[in-house]
Amino acid sequence: METNKIVYRDILKKWGVEYHEHSAIHTSGMVIPAGNWEASDPFLIMAEDVMKNGAFDHHPHRGIETVTYIIDGEMEHFDNKGGRGTLRKGDAQWLTAGRGVLHLEEAPAGKTAHSLQLWVNLPAESKMVESSYQDILRSRTPVVKEEGVEIFVISGSSHGVTALVRNHVPVTMLEINLEAGYQTLQKLPADYNGFLFVIEGEGEFGCSAVKGEAKEVLWLTESVTAESEVSIKAKGNLKVLLIAGKKLREPVVARGPFVMNTVEQINQAYQDFRNGKFGDWEQDVLG
Ligand code: MN
Repeated sequence: METNKIVYRDILKKWGVEYHEHSAIHTSGMVIPAGNWEASDPFLIMAEDVMKNGAFDHHPHRGIETVTYIIDGEMEHFDNKGGRGTLRKGDAQWLTAGRGVLHLEEAPAGKTAHSLQLWVNLPAESKMVESSYQDILRSRTPVVKEEGVEIFVISGSSHGVTALVRNHVPVTMLEINLEAGYQTLQKLPADYNGFLFVIEGEGEFGCSAVKGEAKEVLWLTESVTAESEVSIKAKGNLKVLLIAGKKLREPVVARGPFVMNTVEQINQAYQDFRNGKFGDWEQDVLG
């Protein structure tokens, strides 16, 4: 067996996000469309939303983590386990729904929220853990600073800097900012599956220097057995998210806000929700 072998990751696939105006107060696009469970494992979906107050109502989740990242604007969140707060540009929130939570995320009155929401699947053994949440405010996010390079370590680690967030599934989530002409290499463990999402600017990605620009998703080739590195180079000023995680390789049965391993578990989730086992929004949050 070779030692110290590093695989340089390339771009397997690239696509642009299409946006749809659902109403006067809500436009969204699917960054990771639902249903490609094996290809996107451990991620389920990622949506980009631009919304004003009232776009969503409160709703339940089970079996997943929802990770919210604020591109711009302001978002308030409430859940029925006592979690609440306000998120602004660069802030993130890691909500572990586990066995069940009711929550609401919305722009405050008169404000706009421009956000990304990623659903991270939970492994079978963690799907019914107690719900919890972690705010990852920009002011407290560990950061890597080198000439022309600034990397906010939201989850996982980068260049020896480790995030504060506690994970059920190992996930690296980085906001990488590069000045024009600068390049950075990011190490990823073998067996991490992941992608880049360009928020601003343009760059060249992976060992073939595939071009990517704002609103494009670049999915990484797999490494599987060897430690790997991904190259990110800025043409103009570049802001890009790098998100990668360890594959779960478990069956996925998803319906609405619940993601479990079997149809029986999904039916149980709906039954538990109807029977009030997720709690009561009026009592728990408003009361
Ligand atoms: Mn939700």
